[in-house]
Amino acid sequence: MISQKMYELGTKKSTIRTIFEFGRKRAAEVGEENVFDFSLGNPNVPTPEYVRDAAVDILLHVEPSAVNGYTVAPGNPQVREAIAKSINDRFGTHFAGKNLFMTCGAAAAITISFKALAEPGDEFMVVAPFFPEYQCFVESVGAKLVVVPAQTEDFQINFDAFEACLTPHTKGVIVNSPNNPSGAIYSEETIERLADLLRRKEEEYGHSIFIIADEPYREIAYEGYTVPYVPNYYKDTLVCYSYSKSFSLPGERIGYIVVPDEVADFGKVYGAIAGAARVLTHVNAPSLWQLVVGRCAGKPSDISTYVKNGQLLYNGLIEAGFTCVKPQGAFYLFPKALEEDDYAFCERAKQFDLLLVPGTDFGCPGYFRAAYCIKTETIERSLPKFKELAASYQK
Ligand code: PLP
Repeated sequence: MISQKMYELGTKKSTIRTIFEFGRKRAAEVGEENVFDFSLGNPNVPTPEYVRDAAVDILLHVEPSAVNGYTVAPGNPQVREAIAKSINDRFGTHFAGKNLFMTCGAAAAITISFKALAEPGDEFMVVAPFFPEYQCFVESVGAKLVVVPAQTEDFQINFDAFEACLTPHTKGVIVNSPNNPSGAIYSEETIERLADLLRRKEEEYGHSIFIIADEPYREIAYEGYTVPYVPNYYKDTLVCYSYSKSFSLPGERIGYIVVPDEVADFGKVYGAIAGAARVLTHVNAPSLWQLVVGRCAGKPSDISTYVKNGQLLYNGLIEAGFTCVKPQGAFYLFPKALEEDDYAFCERAKQFDLLLVPGTDFGCPGYFRAAYCIKTETIERSLPKFKELAASYQK
């Protein structure tokens, strides 16, 4: 009668949603200020003023058919040219508008890329810990997600484990750096090693293996860290970018895919992306927001709140006795839970009104995620609670 799979996807709440809803209920009982909700990755920094100004100016002064009408499926040509130029200025690439395909954020960009590439029996790999939605995005195109176990000392890649997961069915590898949930940024050495290995395997298997670089957190990189631009290291790369986090626009659904000329069979891959977008009924990315990001392309993001929050939470947790890799970017901390069962740990944390997400949901049991894109004072006031939580394990 209906698709059981779709029913399950539509009705089964994610752990993050369940925790978030628990938080809302608890806030009604004990007051908003007494609930420390680290569950959601919803940016709390306001959208930059230049983005709002651009949106208002476009709404008031640009021809309505350009603001509210359809665009061509890949997106407004001038917008794509402007974004391509800003990428070239930053990363020394040589893209033009024809290398970009505007999408409804990174989620659409990634799913369209999987759909464009996947043939029956294909596998996409990801290194744990990873953004859980990849699972249903990959399965939605009939492919399989293969998870490489985490290298928990630094959340870079364990190359022995990685190589053991590669098979002739591997069609692509998801690279998410800065990473949700670990906050790690893959070093240049990691990207170079990954590129060397994949080139060797392309040769061995006789077909392309694509990197799908999922980069919604590219701009949120802390002092001393740079995020290598993957197409400069590996030619078969599709970059999936989003303005959800860098411009705090998650509800507006705007991002893009970059398909470099150097990608094997550029014309076919770009054509398949257009076809995948078509069957996924992704008619075009929102016209207004295409114009806005076209005007604002390359402008800086204010990450000072995330820097401050990350340091505060990291130092507080270390002081409370937690073990944690220091975040290098994004706005997540991924510490070790204080007992093996991360679900039990997060349940216990709830007793202290600390809302944390079990690492198992990210493919990494024994850890938990704390999203620190929340008010700094909430983090300040949560620190004694973390101490109480830690102390409860001493008893
Ligand atoms: N990829 C990662 C790693 C994310 O964390 C998110 C959102 O949190 C997305 C993709 C989806 O982003 P968007 O809002 O651009 O669809």
